[in-house]
Amino acid sequence: MREIEIAGGGLAGLSLGIGLRKRGVPVLVREAGAYPRHKVCGEFINGVTSETLEVLGILGIFKNALQHSRTRWWIHQREVLDIKMTRPALGMTRWEMDVALKDLFMAEGGELRTRDRVVREGREGLVWAAGRGGQKESTWLGLKGHFQGVPLRGGLEMHLGDGGYVGLTPITKDGNWLNVCALFKKRTLRAENLITAYLRACALDDLADRLEAGELKRSSLTGVSGLQLGVQGGTAGLCSLGDAERMIPPFTGNGMSMAFEAAECALQPLVDYAQGREWSECCAEVADAIESRFQKRVALALRLQRFIETAGGRRMLSLAARSGLLPFHWLHRQFS
Ligand SMILES: Cc1cc2nc3c(=O)[nH]c(=O)nc-3n(C[C@H](O)[C@H](O)[C@H](O)COP(=O)(O)OP(=O)(O)OC[C@H]3O[C@@H](n4cnc5c(N)ncnc54)[C@H](O)[C@@H]3O)c2cc1C
Repeated sequence: MREIEIAGGGLAGLSLGIGLRKRGVPVLVREAGAYPRHKVCGEFINGVTSETLEVLGILGIFKNALQHSRTRWWIHQREVLDIKMTRPALGMTRWEMDVALKDLFMAEGGELRTRDRVVREGREGLVWAAGRGGQKESTWLGLKGHFQGVPLRGGLEMHLGDGGYVGLTPITKDGNWLNVCALFKKRTLRAENLITAYLRACALDDLADRLEAGELKRSSLTGVSGLQLGVQGGTAGLCSLGDAERMIPPFTGNGMSMAFEAAECALQPLVDYAQGREWSECCAEVADAIESRFQKRVALALRLQRFIETAGGRRMLSLAARSGLLPFHWLHRQFS
């Protein structure tokens, strides 16, 4: 069988690697960083199905995951939504999840090279799963950190402000630790605690006060800039997956599901390549499967993202939610 080389040992790369190993395909994953590591992520997975996780052979990793079934939204100080989700979101830190995937990939006989940065090029046998970032002109900044001792209000909290939004996710069963993850429009701010400084700049002072009453685990503080939402620029002949292919706005909590689903889309065409099929045919099949699965979902999310970026959009969201006219369950199903 021919070998598949995967650039990027994140969710798309490792889950694909595991799925391929389970089908006997030789796989080399080349990862620029090392494990364990913190990643900018809200750390809840919205929308992924057991079937997708089963096909990839990674369902077992989530057996002890937290289950979040309720979400509450605020616009500045005003609560506008408190709702039960149709399907619970899975909760697990990236510190744990990426290591669990890496260990399973290696246990399945996959070869992993860390601190190995791959050059981006379209070449036969190379799958590009190297994630997001790299757009110098991007105006977005993602920040995340783990906090202890911040009283939670129940469920997944989402707070919308002027120039950004932030999600709070419990990461331990006792609720003593939580993940705080935000997407902000970049500003020039200097502060010891960049997350709370940005919250204040977005007029989310109440939330900043709550977080400052707790304790930030300094080593968990991570940031990412150069983010571009939506379809990413392609390189001719490149077979790309996950955030490297397209990025859904983070408020959906659906990006990790998309990374796994993209790996699922790529699995059979890549098994076919390993068994002798033409590379270009397999890549085209992967691209088609991804396009038909994600095109509508990401387009809708981008429209909603633009909506909540404006004060008028947030006012309408608030009105619709408080008067019971927001089709939350319909929207939630679109991100599944
Ligand atoms: C602010 C924010 C909040 C988010 N919150 C959520 C959430 O709550 N729920 C959710 O589902 N999704 C969320 N996401 C999205 C989610 O994190 C991503 O969709 C998911 O991580 C994509 O997985 P991936 O495998 O494509 O990329 P990644 O997980 O980023 O993995 C890519 C890997 O490639 C490596 N790499 C990069 N360049 C190279 C190279 N040249 N050679 C080799 N390796 C390389 C990187 O080190 C990394 O390990 C959020 C994103 C942001 C920005």
